[in-house]
Amino acid sequence: MALLALGLAFFAQAGARAYGHMPLQTRATRLHLFPEQTKSGQAQRPGLTAERYEIDVSFQPEKGFLRARAEVTLRVVEAPPPQPNPSLDAIEFELNPHLKILEITDAQGHKLSFDRSGRLGSPKVSVRLAEPIKMAGTQTSGALAKLTFRYEGVLPPQPLDYITKDGILLRDESRWYPAVDLSAFTESQITITVPSNWNAVTSGQPQGSTSAGPAAIYRWRTSRAVSSRAIVAFPAQGPCGPAFRDVSPSPPLPYDVSACFPPEQAKTGDRLAIEIAALLRTYSNLEGPYPHSTLTIVKGFPNQGGAVGYSAPGFLVVSEDVVKFHDYPGYAPEFLPHEIAHQWFPIEVTIAREEDGWLAESLAEYLAWRYLRERDPARARRMVAQAMRDALAPEPLPPLSLGLRLFALEGESVTHATLYQRGMLVFRTLETVIDRERVDRVLREYYQRYAGKAASIADFRRLCEEISGRNLRWFFDYFIEGTRIPQVAIRRTRSAAPNEVSGEIILRNVPPEFNVRVEMRLETAGGPVEHSVATRGEVTPFTATTPQPVTRITLDPDQRILRWTEAAERNRRQRALLAGIDKLEQAGQFSRAAQICTQALALDPENLASNEQQIRFELGRLLYRGERFTAALPEFERVLALGSLDPMASDLQRAWSRVYRARIESRRGHAAAARAEAQAGLAIKSPAVQTRVSWPDAPARESSAAEELRALAGQAVH
Ligand SMILES: [Zn+2]
Repeated sequence: MALLALGLAFFAQAGARAYGHMPLQTRATRLHLFPEQTKSGQAQRPGLTAERYEIDVSFQPEKGFLRARAEVTLRVVEAPPPQPNPSLDAIEFELNPHLKILEITDAQGHKLSFDRSGRLGSPKVSVRLAEPIKMAGTQTSGALAKLTFRYEGVLPPQPLDYITKDGILLRDESRWYPAVDLSAFTESQITITVPSNWNAVTSGQPQGSTSAGPAAIYRWRTSRAVSSRAIVAFPAQGPCGPAFRDVSPSPPLPYDVSACFPPEQAKTGDRLAIEIAALLRTYSNLEGPYPHSTLTIVKGFPNQGGAVGYSAPGFLVVSEDVVKFHDYPGYAPEFLPHEIAHQWFPIEVTIAREEDGWLAESLAEYLAWRYLRERDPARARRMVAQAMRDALAPEPLPPLSLGLRLFALEGESVTHATLYQRGMLVFRTLETVIDRERVDRVLREYYQRYAGKAASIADFRRLCEEISGRNLRWFFDYFIEGTRIPQVAIRRTRSAAPNEVSGEIILRNVPPEFNVRVEMRLETAGGPVEHSVATRGEVTPFTATTPQPVTRITLDPDQRILRWTEAAERNRRQRALLAGIDKLEQAGQFSRAAQICTQALALDPENLASNEQQIRFELGRLLYRGERFTAALPEFERVLALGSLDPMASDLQRAWSRVYRARIESRRGHAAAARAEAQAGLAIKSPAVQTRVSWPDAPARESSAAEELRALAGQAVH
């Protein structure tokens, strides 16, 4: 039983509004928001499944209004446990409480009575059947019930579900149609009526459109069961066109990518389509064929900053910033790869429970890393380095077994660090246990076996055990259920021969069954020699012979194992120290806050945690607020020269360093110097310069570095 439809990731990268003052290392990184992450599908009765939908929905976008007729066919698949002569006399649905139910009828045309939950905001609707349905034992082709709902109402716009004059997106989670299970696999036929200059897209194949006066009617029909009934509509000029058809490999792959962008963005649409086609090809080879004939990309989330995406079967909705900045190097590199991976997981293999979220978000992130590794190894390495540091930042570390519940239980930053980053690292660690080829076999088999169904982490574990021939309970207990993180170290011991290196690999914080392959790079005068050791328990001795004496050993050089690193430890200490500076700043204690920044820098003199740029930026800002301009200027100077693991965050800090430097020059009456700083800032052509943020000096005022720099450049002219 699937509790949550989840073909989505919601990121806002380097563009999340109002993230001005964020704790160390989440500023200008991505923001994942599930604003209405609720337990869904709880209304599902055991033994009841939705099989088919026929929905006719019409919209008045400017009023946020929809009116619909939805016919749902349900199948009784098995009797609920021990009940003599079990029969079903009522069915529990969920429907958005803002929608007023006008009528519910059954296949015989009986008007059915129903109760909406008395609890405020609850979507639950209990429909009493005219005649109870006999639940026929364990029979799989049980009785059918067909109910027709008529309903209408105004849905207040939400960040991810909205009906506005600029566009419509209704995910399954919006509960815009009556459901017993939001991620049920159903065939559907959906007719969408929108204003005449609009277009509407949903899963399946378009069956043509007709115009009826001021309205346009779009008909869509699936040819196979899909796990979503989400719909998207938007004002458009002309129909969506195939932006890219794959013809390069022989035989050509059997799908095309279609883009629905306004003409002035058609070129960008084409470039996005080309990358999407490459992703579909990669994942088709890795997992199994892409299950649809088209992937349609649509622009949505009007007026929302940042990289925002929503994936549904056969279509992808992306925000304006994705379209605008997609080509900029370093802008949200894993965004598209992550979103496209969702077409397989969890859209085609849905997850059984929210707790199985590792098989949705972490897996999409892992596949995104695999894609980047082939296409852009430098970005893939940075993605891993960032994850190795940030995944271990939350204190305490929550278990991955919380899955999607993390969204409700923890903030954005902890959820991202855990479910996305640590979860991805656990997949990489699995490669060191059963090897990458077997992970690939598992993923292919997992997809083949569970496509069109829901699966759990237990199902995935069984498959890993089947394919590796090993008992892997310890791995899942430790990394998914548990929150301990291994410490891996090498102790060199005396070698017997000059060209022999020997030592012990020491693992701490691990159970006795713990067993991974640890790689090491042996540096010699004649170049590096790669060596790997399968560990057994806490201490594993090893010996290796090299042509020349070993000068240095680098443990796990590609960071393949999720473990404590010096960078992660220093990051954690720095964060702990810096946690209090917001309050000090609010209290006007700039000099004390600046002192703490200096102490934090001293915790990592080699900048192993790559936080120096951000801390120096904070330090510069605090010195500026304390009017210590002479001390602030060189800090901002350092920020310009330093980098970090996140290119967008680096650009943001550099651009704002120029803003502060220009302000300082301006306040000192150096008009020409202020103008020069402002112009140097405007020369930074990064999306981060356009990002609107607010700083603690003026928390209510949001502006972009570009706006500030333009004003400073102009002001200095007078
Ligand atoms: Zn996602």
